[in-house]
Amino acid sequence: MKLVKHIANLGYGSRKQVQWLFREGRVTDADGQVLYADDKVGHDAIRVDGEPLDPPPGLTLVLHKPAGYTCSTKDQGRLVYDLLPSRFRDRSPLLSTVGRLDRDTSGLLLMTDDGGLLHRIVSPKSKLDKVYEARLAQDLRGDEAACFASGTLLLESDDKPLLPAELEVLGPRHARLTLHEGRYHQLRRMFAAVGNHVDALHRSRIGGLALDELAEGQWRVLSADDLQVLF
Ligand code: URA
Repeated sequence: MKLVKHIANLGYGSRKQVQWLFREGRVTDADGQVLYADDKVGHDAIRVDGEPLDPPPGLTLVLHKPAGYTCSTKDQGRLVYDLLPSRFRDRSPLLSTVGRLDRDTSGLLLMTDDGGLLHRIVSPKSKLDKVYEARLAQDLRGDEAACFASGTLLLESDDKPLLPAELEVLGPRHARLTLHEGRYHQLRRMFAAVGNHVDALHRSRIGGLALDELAEGQWRVLSADDLQVLF
């Protein structure tokens, strides 16, 4: 691929704007030698304003989403993209969220430009564990674990019962729930179905991948090893 197109696809500007970066001598190799639009240079050797290029396509990252941010490219209010370098919103292929977390849910959110990977994670066949911690408005009754594990719970406006899910009680109003599917507002609707209300919700893990030490609002690029751990 031509350098101009490659750099433009990474969100550095339109092709015209990237042409200007070349004309102004702002695109160089690692030794500071000015590059020209027709040069054949590998991604890792390219610098813009002395900085290495953003990661090439095939980018997957994990973000610790704070509550109050929406998983959308253009809603009103704060978006998860606001937590990333502004160029990441303009990449082609698009960096999209892998499924969604509600605006008021915090925790582990994956974002990728790899359509195959996205499908592998969100496909109903994937059954990848998703682990959530919920703070509840009411004390647990005691029958929730059996109800969620039954595989017979039918939520309002769904036509199929939920897959069995595992509930671990962490306190009178605090629970960890492991889901194996991802329906709209699933966890909030599950607790509503047993007469409770979720005050705060946090996703701590998807498959084998946990948030670990990533602080709220922080993100990191996933390595091939991380992706192995995920599945
Ligand atoms: N279930 C919900 O209700 N909300 C989320 O954000 C994730 C799971």
